[in-house]
Amino acid sequence: MSSEKAKIQPVLFAVPDRVEDKSLSESQLRKSSTRPEDLINTAAVQSAHEQADACGFCFGSGMEVVEGKGARRCRCRTQNAQTNLLADARIPRRYSECSMQNYYPAHGNGSQFRAFNYAVRLMHDYPAVERGLLLMGPVGVGKTHLSVAIVRGLLEKGVGCLFYDFGSLLKQIQDSYNPISQTSELKVLAPVYQAEILVLDELGASKPTDWVRDTMMQVIGKRYNDKKLTVFTTNYMDARRAPTDETLEDRIGVRLRSRLYEMCKTVVVEGEDYRRRRDAQQI
Ligand code: ADP
Repeated sequence: MSSEKAKIQPVLFAVPDRVEDKSLSESQLRKSSTRPEDLINTAAVQSAHEQADACGFCFGSGMEVVEGKGARRCRCRTQNAQTNLLADARIPRRYSECSMQNYYPAHGNGSQFRAFNYAVRLMHDYPAVERGLLLMGPVGVGKTHLSVAIVRGLLEKGVGCLFYDFGSLLKQIQDSYNPISQTSELKVLAPVYQAEILVLDELGASKPTDWVRDTMMQVIGKRYNDKKLTVFTTNYMDARRAPTDETLEDRIGVRLRSRLYEMCKTVVVEGEDYRRRRDAQQI
């Protein structure tokens, strides 16, 4: 690339005959200690810097020439678009490295293989996909990992995705009601409504007050009505395993659970807490 950059046309820094900055009067200039050679055209300098920083393939034009094929959108623009998509997706730092490649279903654990297969299929088949996924299971079985892996795979295809821990989303909405808040409810919710793919992690984790239920209904109901693809994870199951257990329906309400059947394929993931497994293997 450096040899390509060397081809950039040099910019000549000519000292202008007249000072272009009209805000300085003649007398001001006479009083000023500025030497004429310092008054070079700043726009030219900026343009030179821009050219020097420009991509070695398109020199800032956005189009590159591919031998034998003609012109196409420059790879630098594609890479920038990918970087922006990744930043906009809000993947938490802890999960930033999660992908399909580093998800290892536990040996002999059919539910994890199944979940992995559903996740890979969604990622590959998108946009020819009707429903999202509802990954349900105990803590640490890789539900969030798989949902982030889906996001990463789709981002690589250029699909805009957004990841939200549901509790943080609710908190942001609540904070937006504060009169000194810099944001509004709509500003928080617009990207959630618009995201092509949305991950809502930890569904049902927030204490189900009336406000929480109404807000969950508002957010999920909007995506449901707009037929937008959403991936959910939850630690709550449909069936009670012990009499004191709360089900997903207890946490989010019967109406919302019903909508989720239509929006998502429910996939139960079982197994040991991976963090615990990893801890036992580490010294
Ligand atoms: P859950 O969402 O089910 O509570 P996480 O996805 O947060 O679990 O997983 C906890 C940690 O363990 C994460 O760092 C995740 O990357 C890792 N992890 C879980 N399951 C697997 C797996 N099968 N293969 C690789 N890493 C895993």
